[in-house]
Amino acid sequence: MFSSGNTVIAKIIICFTFFLVLAKIKVNGIVQGVGFRPFIYRIASHLNLKGYVLNLGDAGVEIEVEGSKEEIEKFIEFLKDKKPPLAKIDEIKVKWADERKYKRFEIRKSKEEKREGISIIPPDISICQECIEDMEKQERRRNYFFTTCTNCGPRFTIIKKLPYDRCNTTMDEFEMCEECYAEYTNPSNRRYHAQTIACKNCGPQIFLKWDEKIFEGEEAIWKATNLLNNGKIVAIKGIGGYHLACLADEKGRAVRKLRSILGRPQKPFALMARDIKMIEGIAFINDKEKDMLLSYIKPIVLLEKKEELPYVAPGLHNYGVMLPYTGLHFLLFKKISCPLVMTSANLPGRPIIYSEEEIENIGVDAILFYNRKIWQRCDDSIVKFIGKQPVLIRRSRGFVPTAIKIDGATNILATGAEENVVACLLKDGHAFLSQYIGHLQHLETFEFFKEAINHLAGLISFTPEAIACDLHPNFLTTKFAEEMAEEKNLPLFRVQHHHAHVAKVMAEHSLKEAIGIAIDGFGYGNDGMAWGGEILYSNIAEYERLCHLQYHAMPGGDAATKYPLRMLAGILGKEVEDFLIERSKVFPYGEKEVEVILKQARNAKIKTSSCGRLLDAIAALLDICHVMHYEGEAAMKLESVARKGKDVLHIKPVIKGNVIETRYLLQQIFENRNKIRKEDLAYSAEEYIANSLAMAAIQKAEEMGIKNIVVAGGCAYNEHITLRIKEKVEKEGMNFFINKLLPCGDGGISFGQAAVASMLIGNKN
Ligand SMILES: [Zn+2]
Ligand SMILES: [Zn+2]
Ligand SMILES: [Zn+2]
Repeated sequence: MFSSGNTVIAKIIICFTFFLVLAKIKVNGIVQGVGFRPFIYRIASHLNLKGYVLNLGDAGVEIEVEGSKEEIEKFIEFLKDKKPPLAKIDEIKVKWADERKYKRFEIRKSKEEKREGISIIPPDISICQECIEDMEKQERRRNYFFTTCTNCGPRFTIIKKLPYDRCNTTMDEFEMCEECYAEYTNPSNRRYHAQTIACKNCGPQIFLKWDEKIFEGEEAIWKATNLLNNGKIVAIKGIGGYHLACLADEKGRAVRKLRSILGRPQKPFALMARDIKMIEGIAFINDKEKDMLLSYIKPIVLLEKKEELPYVAPGLHNYGVMLPYTGLHFLLFKKISCPLVMTSANLPGRPIIYSEEEIENIGVDAILFYNRKIWQRCDDSIVKFIGKQPVLIRRSRGFVPTAIKIDGATNILATGAEENVVACLLKDGHAFLSQYIGHLQHLETFEFFKEAINHLAGLISFTPEAIACDLHPNFLTTKFAEEMAEEKNLPLFRVQHHHAHVAKVMAEHSLKEAIGIAIDGFGYGNDGMAWGGEILYSNIAEYERLCHLQYHAMPGGDAATKYPLRMLAGILGKEVEDFLIERSKVFPYGEKEVEVILKQARNAKIKTSSCGRLLDAIAALLDICHVMHYEGEAAMKLESVARKGKDVLHIKPVIKGNVIETRYLLQQIFENRNKIRKEDLAYSAEEYIANSLAMAAIQKAEEMGIKNIVVAGGCAYNEHITLRIKEKVEKEGMNFFINKLLPCGDGGISFGQAAVASMLIGNKN
């Protein structure tokens, strides 16, 4: 009896185990172009499941697997735990259904139609170790500059539309050779369905144009290294546009020449080094910085200088350095044994150059290019460490178009401000930020801005339901937003600049209420003044201005940004007349201009509370910077000088009503300028600014019973100021926040605008 009962149970179990079920699985996230389908094929085959996998038009993946329920559950576990390194799963939906009696497991052709759901193509990924090895070992890929696989290579910059298949990329012009096709169709190969698959026989070809001659293939590369080693300047076509490259050696002759060609005397150039060892020769580097440099994103990381390479980053304490991220970069460093300047090729204020025609006009010695189009331009990303925290200065290649989670159900397009513009498309609780566009003043950059928005909108099937922009009436981004809102009859949200800065940190960290310290160069205030040193209360939807840095005149408006001595005159007026006259050579009209400046300072209608302009004035007073050649120059150079100083002035914060006194600070520095080292004065000034901002914010937080203090804006990149505020805030038992996923400066402000608009819409509904 006992034994026969057991048999029955066993039979039932067997029946149950072999009872086939079907699971319809939809995976959203970064699952296209990262080797996801071959991975699915492998685990399905391993578990003996039948069915299929295919890419959907919205960038998600659809899977049907048939087998025992137990095996399918194992399959789903594998799916989560063993996914390819670059895949990112946001969501897995499973529906159970009746069996369909599939005979095998297969990878099916992509579906064209778009469906619901949010998925997105991956960003551009640096070359992987296996591909580097293939460039040594595989005959067809020996020294082949465009060696890639499913785990690496360009993505965002080559995709014209979804689904991510070769025919929808700029690789469509290159027909695979038989051998590549065999790899492409073999599920056990690393290049199975690698849309960028190529080899010497069938893929893009490289050329060097030099001295009216054209060199081809490997010869082009070796010739280019030869020219670089001889001090020539070579334009090199990269993933998202052209770089201008030259040797950064101890003499700096080539770098100086590059500066004169570009008419760019001061702006720091990024460097590329062969490996960590080469970086260690010129800069200090810790483990966190090393990890960041080696990550698949391969951003530019700001590192403290060890050796001064002339003309690379004048007046600054750090270099921006990156490691090779394409096969071509690795090949160049086979024959180059010192760092290269690798700066984006662009004319001032214009987007990065990506076409062969345009690069001809730059006036370089030679051009190293290949015959595959770049579909979307994309600049290198830049990361700086503030203490142990990496912060983004520029979020572009390697990040875009990866989404950031945010609350909100309405589709919102946010257009950003004027500098470092990046657009933000909010859809289904995801914020998609465009690549770095740049300073939106030139028509060409404006065209790039519109084109980038259209492209991104196409990739994520986005139709705006509301528009958000800056409060400034004259920004091109505002005008664009106004026109679109009117044309499409959509609500328009004008978000005050510093409100957006604060909301950007709050939304990233899911904070409901906070006191925000927003410090930057300039933002249009609701009183018509130029704000930039603000303590705000915000609940994301709204804000209240609680306190700000003292207002000062900005003699000559924009001219006060270009000539920091003007700002100094705006703060100290007649007191610095002689000081200005001694330095009047700086001004286009010399001594006469000083008179005008002082008059402008007395009669100024527009005043500013900008932290950036305050730092500029201090830099001018300490003779660190008298003319601004690039955004943030004076403040950055001040920071570099202050790093070698200590606090000697010990000025106690002076806060009167809702104003943080700063004129007094400048007076103190002015009086002590010949008695105390400028390093110590610079440090003391930063210390005062940090202490007084922290004190004001903490006071307000205590009064209002709020525990969270956030810091945002371009001046937050000043490590001393930000770390001091953090220390003060945490000492009071409060929570300190800064952006981790977005730039602190205006490069992330569209995200803040979208967050505010989204919250206002949500509150209404
Ligand atoms: Zn690879
Ligand atoms: Zn081939
Ligand atoms: Zn700003």
